[in-house]
Amino acid sequence: MRRKLAAGNWKMNGTTDALQEIAALGRAHPEAAAEVLICPPATLIAPAARTAGDGPIGIGGQDCHDEAEGAHTGDISAGMLADAGARAVILGHSERRAAHHERSEDVRAKARAAQAAGLMTIICLGESQLQREATNTLDIIGAQLSLSVPDGSTGENLVVAYEPIWAIGSGMTPTPDQIGEVHDFMRARLERRFGAGVGRSVRLLYGGSVKGENAGEIFAISNVDGALVGGASLTAGAFSPIISAL
Ligand code: PGA
Repeated sequence: MRRKLAAGNWKMNGTTDALQEIAALGRAHPEAAAEVLICPPATLIAPAARTAGDGPIGIGGQDCHDEAEGAHTGDISAGMLADAGARAVILGHSERRAAHHERSEDVRAKARAAQAAGLMTIICLGESQLQREATNTLDIIGAQLSLSVPDGSTGENLVVAYEPIWAIGSGMTPTPDQIGEVHDFMRARLERRFGAGVGRSVRLLYGGSVKGENAGEIFAISNVDGALVGGASLTAGAFSPIISAL
């Protein structure tokens, strides 16, 4: 059985006063059956990990470098994230692929480094509106999946998030059939590459305009093991119903 996962991606939002949202979330879900992660900006990882303590909320990063240390001004290594208290890291989010020109090969190198540092990697994939209209979605997802995911990935250190670019922050979501088609496809590809045991143990998240109102419908789709949530993860009040729907 795959444990359900709700991961919150705070993006470039939040200063110290936002830590109270993590504390409130922990109080609201003291014994959550699902795994809950908050990925705040790097400046908040260490204090967020202290706020979360031994409670039910885990802390993650939003990116890392593929090297352990060195002359990389402004970058953060996977080991540094782990040292600050992160247990996971989001990699290859479409905003980083677009704004920082990350290719799937770069994402794979980062994922290899993160997994070696003991972090769970949440690798993001997704098609653009144009690609979906051209009915290229499965080709795009297949290529991103095979290139972005490193060899040696397991059900413990790999989570894959399907995030159609056009659904992020837009209020638009694919139909349940469209989400199910991509998730079934990703599951089949992972089973083919890693074998049934590992392939079936990797959790697959949907991301893009998930809210309390649509979470239940999305979580009922086959091979959807949870969600990667942006805007609706910023407050405990908005994220809590999503966790409860898992
Ligand atoms: P959204 O973002 O929930 O605000 O659409 C999702 C994401 O970018 O991970």
